[in-house]
Amino acid sequence: EDDAAGLLALLRSVPDHPAPGVTFWDITPLLGDAQALARATGALAEAARALPGGRIDLVAGVEARGFVLGAPLALALGAGFVPLRKAGKLPWRTVRQDYSLEYGEASIEAHEDAVPAGARVLVIDDVLATGGTASAACTLVQRLGGELAGALFLLELVGLDGRAALATALGGAPVAAV
Ligand code: 5GP
Repeated sequence: EDDAAGLLALLRSVPDHPAPGVTFWDITPLLGDAQALARATGALAEAARALPGGRIDLVAGVEARGFVLGAPLALALGAGFVPLRKAGKLPWRTVRQDYSLEYGEASIEAHEDAVPAGARVLVIDDVLATGGTASAACTLVQRLGGELAGALFLLELVGLDGRAALATALGGAPVAAV
């Protein structure tokens, strides 16, 4: 808890980004601090190990900050890493998941062979806000044939009810935030 408070102090709140009235929590000061980066990735690994359900075969990170946190997490867990990318970036055959943002639409994609049948996959992103992005990530992982081990975040913006929005896509798999 003390550690989480210390990490929280390193986040920069940016008013009116990316739109008027929205406060954006910028994690780059935390990423740029060697000790904080180690503590944050360590805390994520600890939270992942505490999830019910056992082994994690793959960590699936949402572009782009989910990549930064997801690769060290995968290494710490002895898991592989799957990038869930914005549309049009991956070179080979992809499966796409469309979803709604507060303003407009977005899509994420993964390679169609990224998840072996029955692999247990943990979804990671930096921030859980409304839950739309994470829901799309969880749905995509399941469409690829994975079994959801859960969803993990560095920061949860609790006022936005992201957990409730995410519950359907998770189908009972656990959520955790550092
Ligand atoms: P959601 O789909 O839950 O509304 O938004 C979550 C997605 O938008 C995540 O991919 C996350 O990286 C990004 N996001 C939304 N709000 C913030 C924020 O305040 N700070 C950061 N760093 N990312 C955010």
